[in-house]
Amino acid sequence: MKIIVGKESGFCFGVKRAVDGVKEDVKNLDKLYCLGEIVHNEGVVSELENMGVKFIESLDEIEDESNVAIRAHGVDEKTYKLAESKNLKVRDYTCPKVAQIHLKIKEKANDGYTIILIGKKTHPETIGSMGYAKDVYVIETIDEIESLPNFSKVFSIVQTTFSMSKYLEIEKTLKEKYPNIECLNTICASTKNRQEECSKIAKEADFMIIVGGKNSSNTKKLYEVACANCENCIIIQDENDKKIEECKNYDIIGIMSGASTPIETVQKIVGNINSLCEV
Ligand code: SF4
Repeated sequence: MKIIVGKESGFCFGVKRAVDGVKEDVKNLDKLYCLGEIVHNEGVVSELENMGVKFIESLDEIEDESNVAIRAHGVDEKTYKLAESKNLKVRDYTCPKVAQIHLKIKEKANDGYTIILIGKKTHPETIGSMGYAKDVYVIETIDEIESLPNFSKVFSIVQTTFSMSKYLEIEKTLKEKYPNIECLNTICASTKNRQEECSKIAKEADFMIIVGGKNSSNTKKLYEVACANCENCIIIQDENDKKIEECKNYDIIGIMSGASTPIETVQKIVGNINSLCEV
């Protein structure tokens, strides 16, 4: 049996920076809150909880002057203002690439552009980015373009973990509707490279394993990419999933993880597959 592990597997730069930062902070601070799940990965969240990090859904839940970490997805401007009014000590781990999107939306809105944000409406990154201009139109699919009003000055930008192929179709249709639109493709290179490598491996493999949290949208996108290129694909959260045993029926196994899965989880899965082969 041959196992091909995607080189892009493991945390992306932004998630690694946030997880490492919070791990270090919790050792040095009396009490540390984190606004929202740090990553969509149950194993990582419970590891941090065991270290003492308290996860909260709103800043209203915590006392003034507390320490609070902001995850890589970032937050809207109102949240920073609320943190300031409560005198919170903010450990800001917003990924620099997401922070760039916030700045760009603000700048373009100030220049009189209507903003179209392409992204998953319920994703924390999209929700945060929406909060940097008054009227942001969020779209997820091509079908939603038709019902958008006519704008004279329009600018589009995209969630960092959006599917590249879907984005390119949406961009094309937006340009047909708004010939003067200014489109900025802000899909992160980490997302793009991961999806490309996943597609390449899935073409070669006869069984494909996608690893990631069940609420992770970039993991779901990888699964879609894998399914489009390989007939037999599974999606699992970690090495404890019994579906791994299906590997026994195949010769070439491909593995790719989402951006919120630590590389150690992927290594454990490879270990489990190797043990299956020895039986
Ligand atoms: S996917 Fe890219 S933009 Fe998003 S957190 Fe990771 S490194 Fe940052």
